[in-house]
Amino acid sequence: MDNILENKTNTPLSELGEFGLIDYLTKNIKIKNKSTVLAVGDDAAIIDVKKRYQVVSTDLLVEGIHFDLHYTPLKHIGYKAIATNLSDVAAMNAKPEQVLVSIAVSSRFTVEAIAEIYEGIYACCERYNVDLVGGDTTSSLSGLFISVTVLGYADKEKIVKRSTAKENDLICVSGDLGSAYMGLLILEREKQVFLKNPDTQPELEGFDYMLERQLKPEPRLDIIDLLAKHEILPTSMIDVSDGLASEILHICKDSNCGCVIYEDKIPIDTTAYSTLLEFGIVPSTAALNGGEDYELLFTIKQDDYEKIQQIPDISVIGYIKDKNSGCSMITQDDQSIELSAQGWDAYKKNNTNI
Ligand code: ADP
Ligand code: MG
Repeated sequence: MDNILENKTNTPLSELGEFGLIDYLTKNIKIKNKSTVLAVGDDAAIIDVKKRYQVVSTDLLVEGIHFDLHYTPLKHIGYKAIATNLSDVAAMNAKPEQVLVSIAVSSRFTVEAIAEIYEGIYACCERYNVDLVGGDTTSSLSGLFISVTVLGYADKEKIVKRSTAKENDLICVSGDLGSAYMGLLILEREKQVFLKNPDTQPELEGFDYMLERQLKPEPRLDIIDLLAKHEILPTSMIDVSDGLASEILHICKDSNCGCVIYEDKIPIDTTAYSTLLEFGIVPSTAALNGGEDYELLFTIKQDDYEKIQQIPDISVIGYIKDKNSGCSMITQDDQSIELSAQGWDAYKKNNTNI
C-alpha cells in the first residue's frame, strides 16, 4: 500500500493555473439530461425543472476525516463523493440529474492526481446518467476538500420524506448492512501493518465484497425504479449512511412514532458475517452502528406487503409503533432492547469509524 500521490507523473498545479485546470477537468463533458440547459462555462448553470419538484443536497468531504489517502484510491474518492450524494436523492424517492463539484487542493497534489479523482466522478456520473454542470476550484493550505451538490427531481406527489411514517407501517431495508464497516476495519488493519513495516503486502484476499462496499458504494437508484414499477410509494424513507439504528431513530423522531425491529431479520452478507465474528464484533452491531452502507431504509403500508415481496433484495425488518412504545429491537434470544444511535458522527471523540 503506497501513498497514492507518490510515483505519479508530476505535473504541478501551477503549470495549468485555476482556469487551465477547470478547462482540463471539464473539457470532455457531454450533456445527458434534457433538464440541463447549460452546464460548465458560464457564471451559473441553467436547469429546466418543468413541473417537477427539485431536490437539492450537498456534502463536504475532508481528507483525514471522510477519506484516508493511505488506502483510498483517488478514483474511488471521486466515485464515492458522487455516489453518496446520489444516495441522498434516492432517499427522497427522486432521480438525480445534475451535480456540482467544488474542490480545494494543496500544492502537494498534481494535475494527474486531481484528474484521477475526476475519473471517478465521471465514472459515477456516467453510470447513473448524471451531468456535471459546475463547481468551484480553489487552493488549500493543506489537505484535500471535495464538496458535491446534487440536483434531483420527482413528480410532486412522489417525493418521500423522513417524517411521514405511520403506526403499523412495515419497516424495510434494501441490500445488506454492516459490510462497509467491516471493509473499513480491514483497511485500517492493513494501514497499521503498513505503517509499521512498509515492505509488507496488504492481505486483502477474500475480502472483496466488504472492501468494495467501503470504497465504492452504489446508490440504490435501482430500488427507486423497482418501487415505482411495482407501484409502491414508501410512507417514509432515508438512506443508511450512519448505521441502521441512527436512521431508524431519525424516521421515528421525525414521524413522531416508535418502532420494533427484529435482530434476526437484519440482512447481513454471509462472508461479512463470519469476518465480523472473526474480528470479535457482533454482526448486528456492525449493521446497527457501522454506517456507510448507502442502502435505503423505508416504511410501507401493510397493504403493500405482497407487492414488496415481488422485489428481490428487500428485507422487512420490523414495523412502526406508537410513540409511547419507544424504539426497540427484539434480539435473537428474544430480549427487547432499546435502540440507541451510536453511528458515525464527525464530531464524536474516540470515533473508530473514520
Ligand atoms: P466564477 O469565477 O464565476 O466562480 P469559475 O472560474 O470558478 O467561475 O468557474 C468557471 C466555470 O467552471 C463555471 O461554470 C464553474 O461552475 C465551473 N467549474 C469551476 N470549478 C469546477 C470544478 N472543480 N468542477 C467542475 N466545474 C467547475
Ligand atoms: Mg468560482
